[in-house]
Order: sequence, then structure tokens, then C-alpha cells
Amino acid sequence: MAILYDQEHSFKERVKSSIADDFKHNAIKKAQDLFYGKRAMQVEAVEDWQDFREEAVTIREHVLDNLDYYLNQFANNAEKNGAQVHFAKTDKDACRQVIDIFKSRQAKSTVKAKTMVSEEIDVNHALIDEGIEVNETDLAEVILQLDDWNPPSHIVVPALHLDRVAIRKIFSRYGYTGSEEPAEMTRFARAYIRKKFLDADVGITGCNFAVADTGSTFIVTNEGNGRMVTTLPKTQIVLMGMERLVPDLNALSVMMELLIRSSVGSKITSYFSMTNGPRKKGEMDGPEELHIVIVDNGRSEILRSEFRSMLRCIRCGACLNICPVYRHITGHAYGSIYSGPMGAVLTPLLVGYEKAKDLPYASTLCGACTDHCPVKIPLHELLLQHRQNIAEREGMGSTVEKTIFNMAGAGLSNSRLYNIGTKAAASAMKLMAGKDDMIKTSSHTPILKDWVQSRNMPLMKKEKFRDWFKKYQNEK
Ligand code: SF4
Repeated sequence: MAILYDQEHSFKERVKSSIADDFKHNAIKKAQDLFYGKRAMQVEAVEDWQDFREEAVTIREHVLDNLDYYLNQFANNAEKNGAQVHFAKTDKDACRQVIDIFKSRQAKSTVKAKTMVSEEIDVNHALIDEGIEVNETDLAEVILQLDDWNPPSHIVVPALHLDRVAIRKIFSRYGYTGSEEPAEMTRFARAYIRKKFLDADVGITGCNFAVADTGSTFIVTNEGNGRMVTTLPKTQIVLMGMERLVPDLNALSVMMELLIRSSVGSKITSYFSMTNGPRKKGEMDGPEELHIVIVDNGRSEILRSEFRSMLRCIRCGACLNICPVYRHITGHAYGSIYSGPMGAVLTPLLVGYEKAKDLPYASTLCGACTDHCPVKIPLHELLLQHRQNIAEREGMGSTVEKTIFNMAGAGLSNSRLYNIGTKAAASAMKLMAGKDDMIKTSSHTPILKDWVQSRNMPLMKKEKFRDWFKKYQNEK
């Protein structure tokens, strides 16, 4: 089952096993290329894309500056609409509140749609421990659930690492005897989920955005399951991160323009569902009771910190789709439901450096994620900030690393030392290199071991830049 952070395996172990999985690797590459191309086309089609981004930053920053005001406004308006609003400080509080709602309704089963927060607070475990039957309904999430709660590998396309052969195998454990044709397998999944929809006591959804001045919550889906989850069960629970607010419907339209194009590279989404309170008198469908659980779970801390801009995130996944490190190590290597650059920034904030101090190093700091982020989160700078905190505040660098950096610092700030150091390094490298002047995995190189594991390292050039530059200037 997905949990916020995998503590059973080290980052290196996860990376190793991800890299060894050729299928997963290739699937991620293909998907990245596809999403990258689709997004690029959609972005090109919007002439004032950069203006949209600027406006989105203004909206998100304005909400963060006035979060208490908008939370109050949203809660009051949602209650006027007939919803019951709950505030949860921690993941445990949120789970307890959800369980209390189930108990008050004597509910025994639930269907879920479109909710990252539920994974973040691990509400599935909490409900199952209480004897409640939990059913995912997004097709990809259904596949992962049927595969013994295989964790998601992408925040928008969670089952990206499974192909049709693997999915057929998973379905066959539940009685499927058909082919590997997607349409046939989808029909099987549809029949399987439909019964769950009809039997469920409670529907749980997430919330892409909540509008403060109408008290409404919104989700976007591509399969229509969000509609079923919000209309069939008698009770609905919306799990919402406390930063998911926009002031009004105009601001929502700006955010939607950016979210859909950035996430799946489409102009519009297939389904856009708005929840405006429970079923009113005379209405045909909708829940009898609507509960909105607003989850803090560390967000107040982030708001006060140097990582505040991370709360602008709209979970579009664009930063994953451009990241060269994500492409190489794939989503599971991050060990978190939040993967890629956004996960490398967010997960350490949610679980602490002690558990996730390796994640900020899963980046080349090339800045492609920052360029692609529709709400201009300076992701690569936040990753650097994490590294600085880990090195300084937490004192977590290894002794070898600290020694190397101290030596490098001394050498780089003194030209004589620099000359001696580079000469010594060149001679040492010569000893480690093979006949072709390359340092390879087979060399006895404990310090360079990790570096040369997947690439060869050439020797330093014999002629130093300083000497070349002197010569060049003399020749001029
Ligand atoms: S950090 Fe930016 S690009 Fe990445 S998921 Fe969040 S909004 Fe999208």
C-alpha cells in the first residue's frame, strides 16, 4: 500500500532496483517524451502563456499571504452550502476525523477518487485497520490496488510503470480471462468498479481547488469516476490540503488553464466536477452529508519557512516530465508518493531530513523543472536550500564528504595550493586509469566508485587552462 515515505529501503537500494528494471525505465522515458511533446504544443497554442504564469503566481502568493482569511471565508461559505467542515492539524488527526465520520454513519465501505492527500495521510491503512473496505476507482489506482497496493510512480499517471502484459496478469488474479487489449481490460475494470460504486457507503475525493467565495470544491478527472464517487454514496468526504484555495471562480479559471495543459498536455479535461454542498431538496443525486476535512500536516510550518513557495504547487507533474534524474531513476526510487523534483523538495519537508535527506541530491540542478513549473516555483533553488540546511544546520554530511569539501575550499582559495592540488590529482588519476586513459568501474577507485559506475571518467587534459590562456594572450 502506498505510504508517504518508504523507510524500509535506502535511497541507494531503491535507485539500484529501479535502474535494473528495464521495462520501468523505458516506460518512463516514453511517457516523458509523450507528455513533454503534448505539453509543448498546448503551451505554444496559448500566446500569453507567460502572462498566465505570472497571474497564477500572483493568485497563489496572494492566497498564501492571506491564508487565514481565505480559509475562514471558504469554511463559512461551505457551511452555508450545508457542508460540515473539519480542520486537521496532523495526518493522524485527519485519519481520526475520517474514521469518526464513518462510525457516525455506521459505514463499512468506501470508494475513492483523485486524492493525493489521502495517500499523504495514509488514510487507507487507517480505514482498513478499522475493518472498512477501501476501493480505489481511478483506473490506474484500481490496477495498483489489485496489484497488492503497488505504490504509484507518477503523481498524475500512477501506473506508468506497468504495461498491458503486466496489467493482464494482475487482472487474471481476479478472474479476467480476456486478451491484452486495453479496451477489453478496461471493460473488465469497469464492471469490477461499478459494483463497488453501487455498494459503497462513503465516497472520498480529493480537491484540486477550493473556491473561497462560493464554498465549492473542484476535481478534474479523465474517467468520470469522480462523478460517481460524489453522487452515488450517501456520505461524501473531501480531503483537502489547506493551501488548495483560490479566491473566486475567475482565479480558478486561470489555474485550470495552467493545470490541464501542464499535466496531461490537453486543452481541457474530460470531467470537471464541482461540489457545492450535499443534495438539496428536490435534487436527483448527491450525498446526504458532505464533510470537508482541511488538512494541515506540516503546511503551516512550510508557510513559515524558506520553502513557502512550494505551497504554490498545483500537482500538475510537469516538473517530473522534464526531469533527467526522474527519467533515469524513475518514480519509485524517490520512495515517496511525491516523486520527481517536487517530491525531492516536498518529501523532506513532510517527513524530515532524518528520513529523506538523500532526496534533495536527486537532481542535476539544471533548472529545467523551474522553467517548466506553471506557478514558477524555484525548484532547483529550493533543492539547493535543502542541501545547505542538511550540510549546515543538520551537520549531516559524511566525514569523507566534509573533508573533501574542506580541502577543495582551501585549494580553490589559494592559487599555490590549487596548482599543487591539480598536479597531484592529475598524477593520482593517471595511476587509476586504464591504458585508454579512462577511469572505469573496474579500477580500484573507492572515492570515484559511484561516479564511474555508469560512466567512464577521462583523465585531466595535460595542458592546464591557465597555461593555455597565458600562451593565447602572448600570441595575440
Ligand atoms: S512543482 Fe510546479 S511543475 Fe511540479 S507538480 Fe508542482 S506545480 Fe507542477
